[in-house]
Amino acid sequence: MARLGSWIEPFPEGIYVKPADAWVDPSQPRERALITHGHADHARGGHGAVWATPGTLAIMDARYGQQNANPVAYGETMRLGEVEVSFVPAGHVLGSAQIVLDYRGERVVVSGDYKRRPDPTCAPFVVVPCDIFITEATFGLPVFRHPDTGSEVDRLLHRLHHEPGRCVLVGAYALGKAQRVIAELRCRGHHEPIYYHGAMERLCNLYEQLGVPLGELLPVAGAKKEELVGRIIICPPSALNDRWSRRLPDPVTAMASGWMRVRQRARQRQVELPLVISDHADWDELTQTIRDVAPKEVWITHGREDALMHWCMLHQVKARELNLVGYEEEEED
Ligand SMILES: [Zn+2]
Ligand SMILES: [Zn+2]
Repeated sequence: MARLGSWIEPFPEGIYVKPADAWVDPSQPRERALITHGHADHARGGHGAVWATPGTLAIMDARYGQQNANPVAYGETMRLGEVEVSFVPAGHVLGSAQIVLDYRGERVVVSGDYKRRPDPTCAPFVVVPCDIFITEATFGLPVFRHPDTGSEVDRLLHRLHHEPGRCVLVGAYALGKAQRVIAELRCRGHHEPIYYHGAMERLCNLYEQLGVPLGELLPVAGAKKEELVGRIIICPPSALNDRWSRRLPDPVTAMASGWMRVRQRARQRQVELPLVISDHADWDELTQTIRDVAPKEVWITHGREDALMHWCMLHQVKARELNLVGYEEEEED
């Protein structure tokens, strides 16, 4: 009998699904690409044809121009070659999906990136039992335990209200994290205008068009310095310490990232208020997900594989490292 999953071939540049003649999240241009989500390390331009959720396709169109696109809604099943393919929510960013592949009685789920915590900007992760679960491991170490998101947002609001002469500048990745921070602030009752760096505009507009309300957003570019006192301002992490931020009224520098759990990373960026808000599963979410999905095998794509490999071994789940290249961990967390 053939080895389990022998029809799935991992290459450094992506996962090749042989009987569909298609690639999942290839880092090189390919004839047929199935894309889990819009982050640049998973979704690249230049493929012949793309299959993805409408949300992911809208993000790809905004970034790379019009794609030769085949939208697949959550829960819809289509056939590609000899493989049944469906897209199921991954809870990572708007449009993010796990790709479910069924072939000759075997089911493989490629998770892309995911998290299990509620996120007001995207559909929650759905558990799909399968034979092989292909998972990320960005935060695959037991030290990574993300705190409750609401309490991190409350720390941000507390700081804002207790330093009335300043503003709080929050560094957040432009796709997903920025919109989530804004939406989480709205959920915690902050309905003041939130100001944004120009690099955020397009994706914030796109989220709103796709039905994620973000409240009143204003560009920093048009605002006088006095107007920004007591405000929250969202910018890409790269703008936190550059010339652009010097025009702001005595900003409290904050950053929203799973990496803010690591003190040294916060120091590197001179972050005064580190906010541990992540769009990736932490250690408990990774291991809980493997328990929930209960696969025969776990394949690990990117991140910190060793500890998760070891955990799988202890829990009698066969595990394998795929060593894919090109998946960044810095920017998107
Ligand atoms: Zn991602
Ligand atoms: Zn990733």
